[in-house]
Amino acid sequence: MEKTMEILKEKLKATGFKITPQRRAIIEVLIENENSHLSTEEIYDKVRVDCPEIGLATVYRTMQLLDEINGISKLNLDDGCTRYEINFEGEENHHHHHLICKNCGTIIEVKEDLLDAIEEKVENTYKFEIKDHDLKFYGLCSKCK
Ligand SMILES: [Zn+2]
Ligand SMILES: [Zn+2]
Ligand SMILES: [Zn+2]
Repeated sequence: MEKTMEILKEKLKATGFKITPQRRAIIEVLIENENSHLSTEEIYDKVRVDCPEIGLATVYRTMQLLDEINGISKLNLDDGCTRYEINFEGEENHHHHHLICKNCGTIIEVKEDLLDAIEEKVENTYKFEIKDHDLKFYGLCSKCK
């Protein structure tokens, strides 16, 4: 986890930005809640516990910045609210999948890629180099079904 912070710090530096205490606090919240897919408002609420002086606008700007340096992934659901998760080292260009319960809204992570065969076929057929994909499965979680 400390390594992720170091990598993001380096990436920010390379883009000409410093890691301020507020940015660090936001990244820490993202790391601590790695499987939670938080919205900007939820991140703001959690960061405020340690950083009461932080403003929502700062959180918005920091999320934009982290997106630009590929430090986070965005997850857009049907509720129109963008959720974020931290990219851990090595995963920045290749994503996992999400299972979304239509009843309770729970988001479950599928950690494996599982698409190697499909990706190979697409790459060969369309002469297309796949960098990432965004796959959501909608259904009912084990509690709701
Ligand atoms: Zn459910
Ligand atoms: Zn996720
Ligand atoms: Zn893949």
